[in-house]
Amino acid sequence: MPEREVIQMRSVETLVGGEWTAGDEWIEVQNPADLRTPAFRVPALTPADVTRAYDHAERAFPAWKRTSPLARATVLTAAAALLRERADTIAEDIATENGKTRAEARGETLKAADFLEYYGLLVGRGGYGTLLNDIRPDTRTSAQAEPLGVVLAITPWNDPLITPARKLAPALAAGNTAVLKPATETPLSGLHLARALHDAGLPAGVLNVVTGRTGQISGALLDDPRIAAVTFTGSNAVGDRLRTAFATRNIRFQGELGGKNASVVLADADLAKAARTVVAAAFGQAGQRCTATSRVVVERPVHDAFVRLLLAEVAALRPGAPLAEGTSVGPLSGPRQRDSVVGHIERAVKQGATVLTGGDAPADEVLAHGCYLNPTVLGDITDAVDIWREEVFGPVLAVRVVDSLDDAIVAVNDSDFGLAAAVFTRDLHAAHRFADEAECGQIAVNLTTPGWDVHHPFGGFHDSGSPFKEQGTEALHFYTRVKTVAIHYGA
Ligand code: NAD
Repeated sequence: MPEREVIQMRSVETLVGGEWTAGDEWIEVQNPADLRTPAFRVPALTPADVTRAYDHAERAFPAWKRTSPLARATVLTAAAALLRERADTIAEDIATENGKTRAEARGETLKAADFLEYYGLLVGRGGYGTLLNDIRPDTRTSAQAEPLGVVLAITPWNDPLITPARKLAPALAAGNTAVLKPATETPLSGLHLARALHDAGLPAGVLNVVTGRTGQISGALLDDPRIAAVTFTGSNAVGDRLRTAFATRNIRFQGELGGKNASVVLADADLAKAARTVVAAAFGQAGQRCTATSRVVVERPVHDAFVRLLLAEVAALRPGAPLAEGTSVGPLSGPRQRDSVVGHIERAVKQGATVLTGGDAPADEVLAHGCYLNPTVLGDITDAVDIWREEVFGPVLAVRVVDSLDDAIVAVNDSDFGLAAAVFTRDLHAAHRFADEAECGQIAVNLTTPGWDVHHPFGGFHDSGSPFKEQGTEALHFYTRVKTVAIHYGA
């Protein structure tokens, strides 16, 4: 069925076993910019449907594993081309179900295409192991990577297209089959990815997408004995439970979890550039990025001057409808998320923080039915305020003053998380010390905490992540296992 037609019907089927399917029940998906009418609906699959998805993934695995990596690459690069062709339409749907701006959603679509193309080329044109010396005569030994089997990918609502693409591109390129469980709030984006892969010729059953009510399908999804590996991006509450459960079953688990990312502004920094960059890092996607800057740590001599520049940059932001011209900050992803963010702000104020700007909803009547919150900056932050350590995942930036680079590094590392951090300085020594000592998986100097490219290894330390990184060649370690083969070819 052509994509546009499905979307206009506002009922979008899901892909199981190479067929677009719907069950008896549907789930309505909200538009966070206007909660009055649901945006569209997707099938609420049953536990039996989920088991059927695993049946298909299991059945498709042997042939997909044997398929030449070059042929797999052809499918992935064709799917990348389709995503690019369809970018405008897909961006509208992402913006509608997630609330990010049209430009952000378009950027997400093009980056999802980059993931498919990158892993297609990397695996298709690359090698798959190493030849090793062997002390035994006439013996050739190799270590070769092979796919694992059926991978379960569970993804959140905040980057609803890139996150499935970041996982499925290396998983499928390496020869695995997959079951994707997109976030219940934003299933359409993942279905666009599935449609591009399906239309590009992905064989039936290689990718299956299970949409549904998490509570109803969770058992069938997580307990299936055919799961070879689980890649999860989401909250620590869910990720920690999954990590423990899969460890007891000896199933490989990759978790990309929360963050509390700090940007440090040292006294010698280009303050105007720092303010511009921190605002982009904090308020892009309404702060709903795992790598968003949510704490800014400023050296005392430049604190007041930096905050003045920061507030001027924030005042120039334009909260508004995701698809409206000129909007730079969309709504939060739903009422639950908005209430949670407002709760964090209120608690911070009770604990001594000061609202320097924001903290309320835009006055505009057009926005009254959406989940909007003005970009918020909080001052007077100490480590006694919960918001110093708790992830907010919204357009809220907490400012703290420190007296030295040493103090700044201690402040950055004062967190259970360890995803991303940035430092603004002109001093090479300070930059290198920061990079060496900040306990985070991603370090930026004079740059935003988000913004990592498809070939940059990505993932957090401590409670933000797991031993397996995503992106780049690193990701392939998670989706493959190594087999060592010794062949004696002498007489
Ligand atoms: P979430 O943990 O509530 O949900 C993530 C996914 O898990 C969703 O698809 C959800 O339906 C599914 N899920 C939840 N409970 C489940 C269960 N019992 N069984 C099976 N599936 C289940 O997270 P969220 O609110 O969607 O996303 C926001 C969180 O994601 C934030 O904490 C953010 O920091 C994190 N995140 C991390 C990264 C990273 O790379 N480190 C990237 C993006 C988001």
